[in-house]
Amino acid sequence: MAMNDNATQTQTIHAYAAQQAGGPLEKFSYEVGDLKPDEVEIDVLHCGICHSDLSMIDNEWGMSKYPLVAGHEVIGRVAAVGPQVSRLQPGMTVGLGWHSGYCGECACCQTGDQNLCQSAESTIVARHGGFADKVRADAASVVVIPEGIDLAAAGPLLCGGITVFNPLVQFDVQPTDKVAVIGIGGLGHLALQFLNAWGCEVTAFTSSESKRQEALELGAHTTLNSRDAAEIKAAAGSFDFIISTVNVKLDWNLYLSTLKPKGRLHFVGATLEPLEVGVFSLISAQRSISGSPVGSPATIEQMLDFARLHEIQPKVESYPMSEINEAFERLKSGDARYRIVLSNAES
Ligand code: NAP
Ligand code: ZN
Repeated sequence: MAMNDNATQTQTIHAYAAQQAGGPLEKFSYEVGDLKPDEVEIDVLHCGICHSDLSMIDNEWGMSKYPLVAGHEVIGRVAAVGPQVSRLQPGMTVGLGWHSGYCGECACCQTGDQNLCQSAESTIVARHGGFADKVRADAASVVVIPEGIDLAAAGPLLCGGITVFNPLVQFDVQPTDKVAVIGIGGLGHLALQFLNAWGCEVTAFTSSESKRQEALELGAHTTLNSRDAAEIKAAAGSFDFIISTVNVKLDWNLYLSTLKPKGRLHFVGATLEPLEVGVFSLISAQRSISGSPVGSPATIEQMLDFARLHEIQPKVESYPMSEINEAFERLKSGDARYRIVLSNAES
C-alpha cells in the first residue's frame, strides 16, 4: 500500500523561469497545494536541455505561457506520492519526459499509445517543468529508471532518446535495413547509437564537418554532408528509412530520392516551414512521409532496458542548475557535444 506521506511534500518549488519570450532564465518560486491523488512529487537530480525547451522559451511554436519553467528530461527521486499511487514510492529513482499526464480514457490511452492522447499534458506547456528543485507529474507518466544506468547522463533518454527509439518500434525497422539520420545533435547522436545496436547499416547526414569522425564513433558506418546536394544525390535509392531530427528546411525532394521504393522519410525534428514535396516521388516508388511524438511509457521502459543492455549513453556536458543561462548559450552556439544536462546534485 502506498502512503500519502504529506510530511515530505513541499509547499514551494524553486525554479528558473523565462518571464518573456527569449528572456533570460531567472529565479522563480511557485506555491503548490497538496498532491493530487494520482500525482508524484520528484526531487530533481538532473535535467537535460532539449532543443524544444529553447523553442518553448522563445515561443517559436506560439503556445508558450510566462513565467515559463522549461525542462522535460528529468532524472530524480520520488519525494512524495498521492494517495492513489501504488506503483511508485518515495526514494525510487525515476524519470519524467515530455508528457506529465494522460487522460487515461481515450482509445490511444487504452491501447498503450498514451503519447498520442490528444488530451495529454506536456511537462512544460501551461505548467512548470524540471529546471527546478522539484517537479510534479501524474504517476502514469513517470517511469522507473533501472539499475545500471548512469543517472548523471540518463536525462536525455527521457525525451531525445525515446523520440528516436520509438520510430524503430512503430515502423518495425529491421536489422537488415539501411537507415539514415539527418542532424547529429541531441536526438541524432542517440539515433546513431540505437540504430547501430539495432543491427542496421547507418548513415549520418551532418552539416558539421567536425562531427563526421565523431558520428562514425557513435555508430554510423557512413557520413554525408546534409547540405551538399551532390553528396545527397549520390545516395539516390539507398535507404529504407530516414529519421530527420533537424528543425530547419532542407531539400526534402532530394532526400526523398535517396529512399528505396517503399522507403519512409520520418520527421521527429520540428521543422516549421512546410515541406513542399513533389507527390510523384511518393507515388512512383510508394514512399511515405510521417512524424511522431516521443513515445509511450511502456516504450520508454523498453528503450531504457535496450540502452542499458547495449551500453547506449547520451554524451553530455554537465552544468550546475545555477548556470542555466550559460548552458543555454552553449546550446545556442551549436557546439554542444551532444546534450547539455543541468544538475542539482553534487557531483
Ligand atoms: P539539437 O541538439 O540542436 O540538434 C539539432 C541538429 O540539427 C544540430 O545538431 C545540427 O546537426 C542540425 N542542424 C541545425 N541547424 C541546421 C542547419 N541550418 N542545417 C542543417 N542542419 C542543421 O536539437 P535536438 O534537441 O536534437 O532537437 C531536434 C529537433 O527535434 C527540435 O526541433 C526539437 O524541438 C525536436 N524534438 C521533437 C520531439 C518529438 O517528439 N518529435 C522530441 C524532442 C525534440 P549537424 O551539426 O549534424 O548538422
Ligand atoms: Zn524534448
